Amino acid sequence: MGNKYSVFSLIKNALSYHENWQRAWKDPTPKKEYDAVIVGGGGHGLATAYYLAKKHNMKNIAVVEKGWIGGGNTGRNTTIIRSNYLWDASAGLYDHALKIWEGLSQELNYNVMFSQRGVMNLAHNLQDVRDLKRRTHANRLNGIDAVYLSTEEVKKFCPIINTSQDIRYRVLGGTLQVHYKEELVQQDMMLLPGVMLEVLMKWVLI
Ligand SMILES: Cc1cc2nc3c(=O)[nH]c(=O)nc-3n(C[C@H](O)[C@H](O)[C@H](O)COP(=O)(O)OP(=O)(O)OC[C@H]3O[C@@H](n4cnc5c(N)ncnc54)[C@H](O)[C@@H]3O)c2cc1C
Repeated sequence: MGNKYSVFSLIKNALSYHENWQRAWKDPTPKKEYDAVIVGGGGHGLATAYYLAKKHNMKNIAVVEKGWIGGGNTGRNTTIIRSNYLWDASAGLYDHALKIWEGLSQELNYNVMFSQRGVMNLAHNLQDVRDLKRRTHANRLNGIDAVYLSTEEVKKFCPIINTSQDIRYRVLGGTLQVHYKEELVQQDMMLLPGVMLEVLMKWVLI
């Protein structure tokens, strides 16, 4: 990536109505050979290329994408990043990935728009309650942040949820994974003045 993102580049580009940002990705002519060729520029292909370069010091890697980068499942998913999976292997793998996500914007100097609000799964019948409690226990045994919430606790965490008892799908409880790191919240707060400044500059310029 050619761009260096900072509050200064944000101000500079706000002054020119964001029309002069450098392209984020290069569009190079293919070489005759590579040490590794990765087919597909989705999350997995890009991460593979990145970690081959970062951890294995490989520099000559091609990522071949038939559409546009991140335009596959990676660009159209629900964007929930969580690790509250039932099975040990999945939980371990996803928790490792979740921890990487927590520092990725800083590591890449690129806003990956990761913002931890907590993920809640609701139970609507007795089997859901059993399944979600089982999952919460499994998560906790794996050291993963997970709590089981009563209906009242669901309402307290997310007041807009309708927890009335006379609706078709009653809320009988739910699980919650928050994984909120105080230092990261503080970092987000550090980004806030920059964002506010950009909004202000746009407003002033309009
Ligand atoms: C509707 C939906 C919701 C989801 N929600 C979540 C969620 O909330 N949280 C979560 O963690 N996961 C979610 N997932 C799963 C997650 O999105 C995928 O597991 C992940 O994006 C897969 O990444 P990928 O790089 O393997 O595939 P993709 O992102 O699909 O990338 C594959 C790329 O390969 C390219 N390609 C394919 N064939 C070729 C070829 N022959 N030559 C060149 N390029 C090629 C495609 O154009 C594409 O860009 C969801 C998936 C879907 C579909």
